Amino acid sequence: MPISLNHGAGGEEMNALIKSFREILKIKNDWKNMDNDSATLKIGERELCFTTDSYVVTPLFFPGGDIGKLAICGTINDLCVMGATPLGISLSLVIEEGMTHTDLKKIMSSINTVSVQTEVPVVTGDTKVMEKGKLDKMIINTAGIGFAPILFDKPLESGDVILVSGTIGDHTAALLSKRFNFKTSVISDCGPVLIETNSLRKEIKQAKDITRGGLAANLNELAQKNDVIIQIKEDELPIQEEVRSAADLLGLSIYELACEGRFMCAVSRKNSKLALEKLKKYNVHAKIIGSVRKKNDEPMVVVKTKFGERILPMPTGRLIPRIC
Ligand code: MG
Repeated sequence: MPISLNHGAGGEEMNALIKSFREILKIKNDWKNMDNDSATLKIGERELCFTTDSYVVTPLFFPGGDIGKLAICGTINDLCVMGATPLGISLSLVIEEGMTHTDLKKIMSSINTVSVQTEVPVVTGDTKVMEKGKLDKMIINTAGIGFAPILFDKPLESGDVILVSGTIGDHTAALLSKRFNFKTSVISDCGPVLIETNSLRKEIKQAKDITRGGLAANLNELAQKNDVIIQIKEDELPIQEEVRSAADLLGLSIYELACEGRFMCAVSRKNSKLALEKLKKYNVHAKIIGSVRKKNDEPMVVVKTKFGERILPMPTGRLIPRIC
């Protein structure tokens, strides 16, 4: 591992760092899913879900959202994809001296809008100010808890179907268009997925919100965790033409584009039609993109294109910094 970190650290570099932290923080405990979207602890018949994330996005305001909306949605979504109904959120702000009250109020009111819409209150928090130049405007940390009546952690089987809840990569395209000043009509998909995960409570076997690392990271995590092969049909991916062009322009793989209001889930083949119908009520671009195949090899993700099949690797190397 390098002695110091690059700010775009992702993939293998970040995993190695986190692994090294885990080797130090190893007190015995009853929590499970500590490497999942939320850690979980069985309390009576229910599962307590607990998650946290820090947001360092730049620019703070982008088409379709801002750092505040991103922070509350990110934490709500990490609870939702485990099967939880969020109960409360903590909100910690580290602010650079000189930030305007107007900007801070805008960010706070974005947080409130999502809080009201999802009925998830912000219940505790902390605010610190740092000297000018010691921080780039602000960092938000949110944590959240919720109970899941049943966790979304049913094992995947051959024949299961993979769905996405809408077009992919809109957040990355919208954010980078603002950062690099290129024209696009794409707006970020940043938003809560609570209504969708609630309505698919019976169908979802496992789910992941599609954030940093994109589908490539999500699908590989799912394949590894379940020891299966996941096959994706490239032609079925819901992606806006403008997002595809932006990815080409920036030299990014469409599979590594981040969303902030989309999730992917695995359901049984029997439930797939119903699950798709339900998802389409909230987003017409929801789609079945692939399936789970029996494993006769290493767990992996395979993409089927017009020209044949290729392996979709876990994102390695550097990820685009500060998109969330
Ligand atoms: Mg997540």
